[in-house]
Amino acid sequence: MAGDRLLSLTQDIITAKASHAAMSADEMARAIKEVYMAFKWVEAQEQRAEKLAKAPAISGLDSIGRSRVICLECGKEFRQIFAKHLARHGLTVREYKKKHGIPLKKGLAARTLSNKRRRYAREKGFGRSVAKDRIEEE
Ligand SMILES: [Zn+2]
Repeated sequence: MAGDRLLSLTQDIITAKASHAAMSADEMARAIKEVYMAFKWVEAQEQRAEKLAKAPAISGLDSIGRSRVICLECGKEFRQIFAKHLARHGLTVREYKKKHGIPLKKGLAARTLSNKRRRYAREKGFGRSVAKDRIEEE
């Protein structure tokens, strides 16, 4: 509700009220103030509700769950959030993590998915061969 609309609504109400009962200037002024403040209150509540509805209820690391990751831009659930999806929000993975306070090293994948990958990598000896390579390099 814009300020003009608020004023015009207030005016309508006061005019209606004044046409039913005689009002002194004082009463009129008080009534205008009261009605205007009431509208202001409603407006503030509306804005608050709108803000709450827009922002996801969770933030940062909480968005990375056991079996799903929630995109903090659109609220959709994924097993993993890919760069391609974030590009739709005009963000890179890095920008997204920074914006939402997610550590840059943290993957945007459901925990079960990353655990599975870790286990798979271990079974295949990926970790070991990397460590071995490192030793051989030194
Ligand atoms: Zn999204």
